[in-house]
Amino acid sequence: MTLWKKNSKAAQQKSSAPSEKFRELKKEIAVMRKQGEPPTKDPRTFSQYLCDLCATPHPVTGLRQCVLCGRWACDACWKDDYYTCKSCAGLIRIHSLMGRE
Ligand SMILES: [Zn+2]
Ligand SMILES: [Zn+2]
Repeated sequence: MTLWKKNSKAAQQKSSAPSEKFRELKKEIAVMRKQGEPPTKDPRTFSQYLCDLCATPHPVTGLRQCVLCGRWACDACWKDDYYTCKSCAGLIRIHSLMGRE
């Protein structure tokens, strides 16, 4: 209970400039694809698509597009916590750690 109260208080203080922080983060992330751009088709199977991170073929339903860099990631390369690929999730984590200090 007390822990939750502490967390919500910290979140309120941080919410003063969340968009600025997001912008800063976006500067560091290289956008590989535009949002809505389809993944690369696997030239060997033609029915599957390539994960932009580990380059293994998956059905289109097995890939999700990262909202930050636009890359298509398979389950193994996806981070549900942030709804981004693993690579961007790592950057977000570094940023949120820095913000806490
Ligand atoms: Zn992958
Ligand atoms: Zn990403």
